[in-house]
Amino acid sequence: MTSSSDFRVTLLGTGTPIPRPDRFGPSTLVEAGDEKLLIDAGRGATMRLYQLKVPMGRIDALLLTHYHSDHTVGIPDFWLTGWLTSFYARRTGPLRVIGPVGAKSLMTALRDAYAADIKIRIEDEKLPLQGIATSVEEFDQDGVVYERNGVKVTAFEVDHGDAIKPAYGYRIDYDGRSAVISGDTRYNENVIKYGTGVDLLIHEVACVRPALMQEVHIQRIVAHHTTPREAGLIFARTKPKLAAYTHLVFLASDRIPALTVDDLVTQTRQTYAGPLEIGEDLMAFEIGHTVTVRRFQP
Ligand SMILES: [Zn+2]
Ligand SMILES: [Zn+2]
Repeated sequence: MTSSSDFRVTLLGTGTPIPRPDRFGPSTLVEAGDEKLLIDAGRGATMRLYQLKVPMGRIDALLLTHYHSDHTVGIPDFWLTGWLTSFYARRTGPLRVIGPVGAKSLMTALRDAYAADIKIRIEDEKLPLQGIATSVEEFDQDGVVYERNGVKVTAFEVDHGDAIKPAYGYRIDYDGRSAVISGDTRYNENVIKYGTGVDLLIHEVACVRPALMQEVHIQRIVAHHTTPREAGLIFARTKPKLAAYTHLVFLASDRIPALTVDDLVTQTRQTYAGPLEIGEDLMAFEIGHTVTVRRFQP
C-alpha cells in the first residue's frame, strides 16, 4: 500500500527555543500539488530540508506566524544558503515572504546585516542578483494570503498574549482537503473557527509539573500557550481526521524535570478521545482520503 499523497505536511522542527538536537526550531513544510511552502524557519530548518532532499530553491514561499526568534532565526540561513549554486539550494528568483506586519522590516534588516556576504558572493561567485532578492507581502487581518495552482492559504489571527502581536495561524486548502497549523497561541476560538472539520489539525502545546508553576517566569510562559487539556478541547470541538502536536513546550528547571510525552498524552486524553499524534521532527502527514503518518527513513 502506498501512503504517498499529493498533499503532504512535514514537521521540520517540533521544538521551542530549547536548543535540543532532536527537536529543531519551529518549521513546517507543506507540499500540495506543485507548491512547496515553508511555514516559519526556526533553527535547523535548512538541515531538515536537506535530509528530505528538498532544495531550498524549490520553496515557493516562506510564511511567518509571528516574530518570536525561535520561529525566525533560520531565515537568514534559508535565504542566504538557498542562494548558492549547489544542488541543495539553487534559488534563482526572489524569495517570496508572506507574514503579518513586521516581515518587511525583518527582511530589510537582514539584507543590511548580511550586506558584506551578498556583495562578496555577487562579485566572487557571480550569483544571480535575482536569487537574493525578496518579495515581501504583509497582512493585518484574517484572509487569503496565498493562492496558486489550486492551493489556498488563509491566515487567521490567534492569541499568543497581549504583548506578542501580531500572531497568526494558517489554514491550507487543496483539492477538497485541508490542514490547519495553529501557530503559537493560547486556547483560541479562531482556531476552532478555521479548524472545524479539517483533515489535519496541528496544534502547539505547553505542559509543566504543578510544582514548577510557583515560578513567575514559568507562569508567564504557560500563559502564552495552550495546555494539553485545552488542546484536547480544541480537538474535541474541531473533530479533525487527525490531531497532532508540534511546538512541544516541556518546561523544566534544574530541580523539577519536564513532563514526558506519555504525560502529555494522558492529559490530552482527559478532554479528547480521537486520533492523536505527538509530532516528531521529520514526521510527515499524507493527506489523502484519510491522513496517514509517516516517520522519516533516511
Ligand atoms: Zn514559539
Ligand atoms: Zn511564540
